[in-house]
Amino acid sequence: MTARILSGKEIAEAIKSEVADEISRLRAEHNLTPGLAVVRVGDDPASAVYVSNKVKTSEAIGIYSEHHHLPDTVEHQELLELVRSLNDRDEIDGILVQLPLPAQINDREILESIDPLKDVDGFHPINVGRLSQGEKALVPCTPAGVIEILKRSGIEIAGHNAVIVGRSNIVGKPMAMLLLQENATVTICHSRTRDLAEVTKRADILVAAIGRAGFVRGEHIGAGATVIDVGINNVSDLNLAHELFGPDDIDKRLAAIEKRGFTLVGDVNPREALEKAGSFTPVPGGVGLLTVAMLMKNTVEAAKMRRSI
Ligand code: NAP
Repeated sequence: MTARILSGKEIAEAIKSEVADEISRLRAEHNLTPGLAVVRVGDDPASAVYVSNKVKTSEAIGIYSEHHHLPDTVEHQELLELVRSLNDRDEIDGILVQLPLPAQINDREILESIDPLKDVDGFHPINVGRLSQGEKALVPCTPAGVIEILKRSGIEIAGHNAVIVGRSNIVGKPMAMLLLQENATVTICHSRTRDLAEVTKRADILVAAIGRAGFVRGEHIGAGATVIDVGINNVSDLNLAHELFGPDDIDKRLAAIEKRGFTLVGDVNPREALEKAGSFTPVPGGVGLLTVAMLMKNTVEAAKMRRSI
């Protein structure tokens, strides 16, 4: 069997185009331009790329955006004051503090200082609580993007077995809540799960959010399952690349390693997933593209929710 590839590209483009239309409507009918403030601390290269994508996409679809870049020596209090000042500004509808933050910063206190109505990452306990109670909430972008991929690809969720590997606050736990809301029968696995493959093999929908390149192998996948790969890992080892990629892909991957020093790989072994799964999200080009699109959607939702429109 060769799995159907669930490309994130068309789905992300469709969502961004819908959000752009909604922004035009808000401008025309309410004289409102949604605003997003992205806060970055320090010079982590991956964070720089993520933030630049978020700001560029905002501008492209008509969201007003601000990028606040602070040095990695910034004091906790100074960052807290920046967030509070953004909370107070009416033209800012969404606030995102890019993680990770340096050691002197208390992450939890910073995330909890964001006005829950502007919490477009959906990490504030108020939004986490609302999501778990099935109430209207701002929902973390990556798991919300997974639901969009499933729905827009015509994959049935209700009544099906969904297994998530990973229980982080950013991906695994909100993913479980969203799948439960869609009436899946949900199982969450983690590093202490016994006989992982026995559990994951029973999944109709298997979501991998682990942070280990190619960890989910053919033995973990039930024949015909939908496999959603949330992982983003850099692989530079040529032997590992040969284990992960088949003849259609390997040359491109080896060329990337030679040119940039690494290739991007998910948490699923793509060669084995292609043989075993019914459908499969690629890395890159899968879930990652949805994360930014859903951030745009959340910013517009936040602008509407705060003004009750
Ligand atoms: P995380 O906070 O490190 O959590 C990893 C989870 O995997 C933990 O719950 C851990 O279990 C579990 N795990 C680790 N080893 C395991 C094993 N051997 N067997 C079963 N479970 C195991 O990671 P995260 O922030 O959720 O991110 C997960 C992946 O998604 C990463 O590759 C990250 O880069 C990627 N990601 C992608 C996007 C995107 O936009 N596509 C967004 C966010 C994250 P314990 O809890 O027991 O330790």
